Amino acid sequence: MAWNVVIAGGGFGGFEVARKLERMLPRHSAQVTLVSDQNYLLYTPLLPGAAAGTLEPRHTVVPLRDQLCDTNLRLGTITGADPARQVVRLTTGDGREDELRYDHLIVSVGSVSRTLPIPGLAEHAFGMKTLPEAIALRNRLLQSLEIAEGIDNPADREPWLTYVFVGAGYAGLEGLAELQDFATDLLDVYPRCRLQGVRFILVEAQARVMPEIPSSLADFAIDELRARGIEVRTSTTIDRLTEESATLSSRTGENEDTVEERVPTRTVVWTAGVKPSPVVKRLGLPLDERSGRIVVDRQLRVEGVDGVWAIGDAAHVPDPRDLTRPAPPTAQHAIRQGRTVAHNVAAALSGGRARTFNYKTLGVFVDLGHGKAVASTLGLRWRGVPAWFLARTYHLASMPGLTRKIRLIADWTVGLFFGRDGAELGRLGHPGKLDTPDQLAAAQHAAEDAPGTGDDRPDAP
Ligand SMILES: Cc1cc2nc3c(=O)[nH]c(=O)nc-3n(C[C@H](O)[C@H](O)[C@H](O)COP(=O)(O)OP(=O)(O)OC[C@H]3O[C@@H](n4cnc5c(N)ncnc54)[C@H](O)[C@@H]3O)c2cc1C
Repeated sequence: MAWNVVIAGGGFGGFEVARKLERMLPRHSAQVTLVSDQNYLLYTPLLPGAAAGTLEPRHTVVPLRDQLCDTNLRLGTITGADPARQVVRLTTGDGREDELRYDHLIVSVGSVSRTLPIPGLAEHAFGMKTLPEAIALRNRLLQSLEIAEGIDNPADREPWLTYVFVGAGYAGLEGLAELQDFATDLLDVYPRCRLQGVRFILVEAQARVMPEIPSSLADFAIDELRARGIEVRTSTTIDRLTEESATLSSRTGENEDTVEERVPTRTVVWTAGVKPSPVVKRLGLPLDERSGRIVVDRQLRVEGVDGVWAIGDAAHVPDPRDLTRPAPPTAQHAIRQGRTVAHNVAAALSGGRARTFNYKTLGVFVDLGHGKAVASTLGLRWRGVPAWFLARTYHLASMPGLTRKIRLIADWTVGLFFGRDGAELGRLGHPGKLDTPDQLAAAQHAAEDAPGTGDDRPDAP
């Protein structure tokens, strides 16, 4: 009888498990099923490129069916699990409830934006975690320039031309840098906006930005952003938002006195951290009290639950550098955890020995747009153009599939020579409805009742 292996979530971690198991397991020895709520892997480091129009959005994702030949892909949303009966529950794309039995379950459902109860945040802020969010942001930038261009009074124009990013991690720093670069390119065709200028503000609650990279590189990144006119506000929080403004509180001086400022803005982007996908609470697994992530041991096994493993942003994996802390929520960790768990599942099925997760961060890249980046690889630090080139080469090498790589090269090359596209296609995917019979009848009556129309109309030529 073939074993049932179920992978929950088809992002960096889940995709890597499936890919590795396809190579490791003898044919027909196990039925591997990957359940994901979207049929692609989102390559998140390229999201800022999609938001800034450097990359065609479709080229930042990898269709799972293209890459996984022997894995059974089920499109659906995991809604819960019963570890005692060894089943996961899911809702399929057409709304049916279903159950999948497993011998081994690998949970890799990732994370969602971690928000705070800040008045107005949910109503007015943009996220930067998913492809629709990145595209919404791109459309907002274009819409705001269009609207500002049509406003006579500079004071009324200001909120449309001010963009606030909250949270200076990967997503915040790269997203802001790329979007500012995009806005600067576009200003050539918006004369009024160019005269007034755009304002970009990066807000960070901590005293420094990007704790993931060495402080000398973080300082370089900040100097680079400031040289472009971007305001970087550390030790600052956002207290409330309205449709037209954000109120910031900064701690200053030795006594950490709080200074409040109301910034006129219509675009606030929230990139202040992540939390595990909500479904982890419904899987009946032990969760870390502080982070809410699933607790696993160094072999990525969920403690005390037979046949269940967890990886990536959803899991609390002991960091090999300091076992009291969790490994950072990054793609490179999720991928390495995926490889370890695939090995361990294969070992469990064949009676082999499990491996310990031992990966320590090898390098980080932060793309700052403008052909610049900062990077730290194997103890070497890179800045400016060489770091940017290294970052692009790394992403190209990591992107699964030859055709995806070629599409990336094509987008980057076209962008380099011909600039970016300023068309705002916000209605894509939301077409208007066709007329109903009632609307057609109403239109017909209106046409007949209108003076000068009807039977007395002259014949058309
Ligand atoms: C803008 C941005 C830039 C980043 N840049 C970098 C970078 O440069 N380098 C780096 O290492 N990391 C980066 N990261 C972090 C990286 O994206 C994550 O750490 C990584 O995606 C985690 O992998 P994962 O497999 O745990 O989750 P994910 O890759 O998020 O995959 C989870 C998958 O599970 C699916 N899913 C969720 N819930 C369900 C459900 N209930 N049912 C079915 N499917 C479900 C999701 O749709 C998704 O496909 C960045 C993140 C962002 C947002």
